[in-house]
Amino acid sequence: MNPKNGFFADYSILIVIVAIACLIFYYLYRHYKLQSKLQLKKEEHILNISSNLADHPMIIFSDTYRVIFANHQIQKFIKAKQGDALEEILPLPLFFIEKEEKSLVDLLDFYKEKAVDEILRISNVTLKNQKEEYRISLRISAAEGKKHVKYIGITILETTEHLEHSKPYYQNSTTGLPNHNKAMEDIGFMAYRYTASNKRFAVAVISVDNFLEIISIVGYRESLQVVSLIARYLQAVSAKSHLKLYHVTSNNFLLILPNIHTIQECNILVEKYKTDCEALLHSNNAQLHYTISSGISIYPDNGIENLVNSAYKALLLAKKQGLGYTMVAASDEQSGEAKAPVKFSEIKRALEQEEFSLYYQPIYDTQKEQITVAEALIRWMHPTKGIIPPGLFLPLVEKTGFMKHLGEFVAKKAIEQLAIWKKLGFREIQVSINLSLREFETMDYPLVLDTLLHDNRINASQLKVEVTENIAMTNKEYSAKQFAKLKKLGIAISLDDFGTGYSSFSMLESFPIDTLKIDKSFVENMSKSKKRRAIVSAMITMSHALGTKVTAEGIEDKQTAVILKHLGCDYMQGYYFGKPMAVFEFQELIRSDEQVSNFDDIIAIES
Ligand code: C2E
Ligand code: MG
Ligand code: MG
Repeated sequence: MNPKNGFFADYSILIVIVAIACLIFYYLYRHYKLQSKLQLKKEEHILNISSNLADHPMIIFSDTYRVIFANHQIQKFIKAKQGDALEEILPLPLFFIEKEEKSLVDLLDFYKEKAVDEILRISNVTLKNQKEEYRISLRISAAEGKKHVKYIGITILETTEHLEHSKPYYQNSTTGLPNHNKAMEDIGFMAYRYTASNKRFAVAVISVDNFLEIISIVGYRESLQVVSLIARYLQAVSAKSHLKLYHVTSNNFLLILPNIHTIQECNILVEKYKTDCEALLHSNNAQLHYTISSGISIYPDNGIENLVNSAYKALLLAKKQGLGYTMVAASDEQSGEAKAPVKFSEIKRALEQEEFSLYYQPIYDTQKEQITVAEALIRWMHPTKGIIPPGLFLPLVEKTGFMKHLGEFVAKKAIEQLAIWKKLGFREIQVSINLSLREFETMDYPLVLDTLLHDNRINASQLKVEVTENIAMTNKEYSAKQFAKLKKLGIAISLDDFGTGYSSFSMLESFPIDTLKIDKSFVENMSKSKKRRAIVSAMITMSHALGTKVTAEGIEDKQTAVILKHLGCDYMQGYYFGKPMAVFEFQELIRSDEQVSNFDDIIAIES
């Protein structure tokens, strides 16, 4: 072997290795550059939006003093557009701070490091551009990247306009707390500062439920007292923590919770504030049952454009669930699948961890003039997503064998609850449970109920099952047998959502239905539509002719309740009488005769 050849062979291997290393290095470098560019674009986009949340003149510079954002309000003072370098801004304004002249470069150089830790406010500044001279206040804020200051933002507050009016502009007149305007501005700044880091913050709107009702019961003055108590408590919390507090509208407070790691952590905090406030209000006036609901959104999960709206949307969803709920807005990524946000694996886990629970909605007996029935409605207390209503998970569960387990759980919980109420000496309440097709098909449901009733020593007359027509019609013979078994046991049967399917009438004919539940779509707007009234009236008459009682669902106002009573409706259910609520709330409702007598006026008007 030629030793020379060996040398060249070694050498060429080295060259190949070096070439490959160079290629890898080049590729990684390109990738890094591209990623940084994308990150920068994303950050700049967020900066633009967050700055737009504030309505003051504002300009943001990059670390190389290139303009990243300049809103239209700033044009009055500094003629600049996105992408401009400093020398392209003409004319460059001059700032006089304590009589000392500073160019824009001086200003940026001098304050950029200082403005990282806190937002700087500089008052009594004179700004001179070619046209005019303005007395202004400046607000300077900076966000830090990994190594150095990445963005510097300057906001101008005009002395003449804003400073004189700054109080009402930023303050809630009832509590003196910062208001919605201030919240929007601070949220913009927070997002702006969190952009360069991977930190998250949460916006939570907490709201006293049924505030209009509270005003109508305790009067306007007293209702202000309710708001002040909450304000004082939250103010004390915010003084001890980094929480920022705003009083946004009459019964709504907005909280900014900085440095949130997990949604669960945020949920726990908000739940604590809510419970404390509820206890406080209760100790102030034990006659009323106060509840507080809340909606939470997270930055950057929910973006910045709709961050506050998302919190309000979550609050609305929470209020639709009942009293005292908390909902977390689905993140932008999740919202695509928000209609079915849960995965099968999660449901399995939830059953194991006992995350399901029953809420009870009162049903008012028009004859007895009190609440005699409670519909048990399932809720999923999700550890991070808050309370999830059945519409979002039942369709998925129904497709699996898990409906059987869930059905058993519901029946067990409801019957055990009846036993607890019996033990506690409550007046006799009938519980109505919903039954799905799967439950009916996959187990001997009458036998399950019979065993549970027997074990808990509960009379079958205290139980009702609600079925929808699609349950019965898939296998008519089998359904007929099962219904007969239920009847034999003494369990009442309700036909739920009557009028929404195509076989409602034949169901009435073929099965031993005790109560027919008119679907809420017919009850809605009944007070405004003559035709709806006529349809509901015909349903009630027909039902009575068949010897079947009638429940109307979805009654949200007194007027509808009065009309329904007038039409001879036997039972009434809806938010007007009470939303689905946790056991302890339902117990309060049953305990307090006052609540029941709240509905006396329906009877009074009638007679
Ligand atoms: P549903 O049995 O017809 O229950 C009534 C639904 O209407 C409930 O929704 C209730 O919260 C809502 N509601 C009551 N009053 C009003 C009102 O005044 N206005 C309005 N807008 N809505 C009102 P929810 O709890 O979301 O339940 C939806 C459906 O999920 C139920 O309809 C029932 O079919 C099913 N479901 C609930 N819990 C269970 C369960 O444990 N097992 C089974 N199989 N199905 C259940
Ligand atoms: Mg029902
Ligand atoms: Mg229904």
